[in-house]
Amino acid sequence: MKPFVEELNHLGTHGMQYVNVDNDVVTCKVYSVCCSSDSCARPLLRETMQFNGRYGCDWCLTEAESIKHGDGISHIYVPSHDELKLRDNGSFVNDALHASLDNPINGVKGVSPLLFLPLFAIVLGFVPDYLHCVLLGIVRTFASLWFHKSNHAKPWYIGQPGYLLLVDNFLLCDLLVIFHVCLEAYLNVNFGRARSGNLSCCIIHYWYFMVNFLRST
Ligand SMILES: [Zn+2]
Repeated sequence: MKPFVEELNHLGTHGMQYVNVDNDVVTCKVYSVCCSSDSCARPLLRETMQFNGRYGCDWCLTEAESIKHGDGISHIYVPSHDELKLRDNGSFVNDALHASLDNPINGVKGVSPLLFLPLFAIVLGFVPDYLHCVLLGIVRTFASLWFHKSNHAKPWYIGQPGYLLLVDNFLLCDLLVIFHVCLEAYLNVNFGRARSGNLSCCIIHYWYFMVNFLRST
């Protein structure tokens, strides 16, 4: 990361020059303000604990609880009614300056080179990544709850053939698409391997109408 940070420091201070359409020489400064990476890469970039460690959340100071899971122990984040204590840049930098690999503070293990990026906010500059958190997280969870046969006895299950027909008819009115095409990935035995491409179609094209459908039924 060091060459990247050095280059960005140079571009943020001196900028780069180009000739625009009016033949003027323009100096343009470049900053990196947002970083999207998956949850395993994020702690490496920030010098922090991974999501499954103590204080492993990148945005708040929830400690996580250890529970027995199978033969081992899992760290989980239990929903709480207490207000979450959010991380902020100032305290993150302070933790980084006083922490070490053997003695992490609030999940921060040391000084990340990204702390030296101009204008980059080490806490809110990182965002939950779209592929894992949105598509393979939220969308797959909802698709499973609504359509996967393992939920067939649940009141929110709408994967019965009769309901699927209703879903199709409902969507045909608004979108002229047959939802079955998209649903195929969910209804087969490989549900857990539904591709993010299918899930992306779901959230972009169908979810809004699905929520209306659920309300209407
Ligand atoms: Zn959190």
